[in-house]
Amino acid sequence: MRIAVASGKGGTGKTTVAVSLALALAETQSVQLLDCDVEEPNVHLFVHPEITAAHAVDKLLPQVDEAICQRCGDCVRACEFHALALLGQHIVVFPELCHGCGRCTLVCPHGAIDEVAHSLGTVETGTARGLLYGQGALDVGEAMATPIIRELKREIRPESTVVLDAPPGTGCPAIAVLRWVDIALLVTEPTSFGLHDLKAAVGVARTLDVPMAVVLNRAGVGDDQVEAYCAQERIPLLLKIPFDRAIASSYAVGIPLVDALPEWRKAFAELEEELRAVMAE
Ligand code: SF4
Ligand code: SF4
Repeated sequence: MRIAVASGKGGTGKTTVAVSLALALAETQSVQLLDCDVEEPNVHLFVHPEITAAHAVDKLLPQVDEAICQRCGDCVRACEFHALALLGQHIVVFPELCHGCGRCTLVCPHGAIDEVAHSLGTVETGTARGLLYGQGALDVGEAMATPIIRELKREIRPESTVVLDAPPGTGCPAIAVLRWVDIALLVTEPTSFGLHDLKAAVGVARTLDVPMAVVLNRAGVGDDQVEAYCAQERIPLLLKIPFDRAIASSYAVGIPLVDALPEWRKAFAELEEELRAVMAE
């Protein structure tokens, strides 16, 4: 089973839930924990992995040979991402817009375009506390997270239960993760903002036809809007984690919830069966 722990925005406790779920399940089975929040990976702060393999993730950027280029503009017209422009006598490449699809190279009638590798980030794998572990990280200044997430996907071990800490939000990186999981566990908090972002995440999961369930973090700080919404939309609310100073303090110093408060291990371990029941509905 592949479980994405996701949220409509950052800061809801998504990583706390992903780490605690993985550690609780690993007591009885093989579990792989993947940090797919490649713009801000922080799972490693809680599980201190031993990294045993790493590889760079590149994209191929076009490089125009001005001595050969005839300024015909075919490449500019062919690029659906508007990553090329003909400015005066020069073809200008906008690397942050380029998806590395290679189309411009193919259409150039004069063979004036070469492709050069441009680093986007890294994918690292290893082990952590009995877990198989993987994480991706974008290079500083890079904006294209999806290719790194796709590379991380190649590391999935089908024989394991896989817990994926998904990127926050409802953009391309989150969608890239939700597309290849069996169920989404949406983490939110009991506030108007939490409800707003939960609705966005539910919309994405429904569009992708991914079953879902909710974890309510910091229960008790707000109101019951989220619970009412889940009931109305028939989305199972499987776990409520109360607002608790001990939980917040342990998070702040990188101690997983199930280590700081071991009585929570059972609740997280039981989530597996509850998620399977949701998937079977
Ligand atoms: S590789 Fe693709 S995205 Fe990049 S400039 Fe060429 S056509 Fe555009
Ligand atoms: S298609 Fe080739 S020759 Fe035409 S503008 Fe682009 S790089 Fe130059």
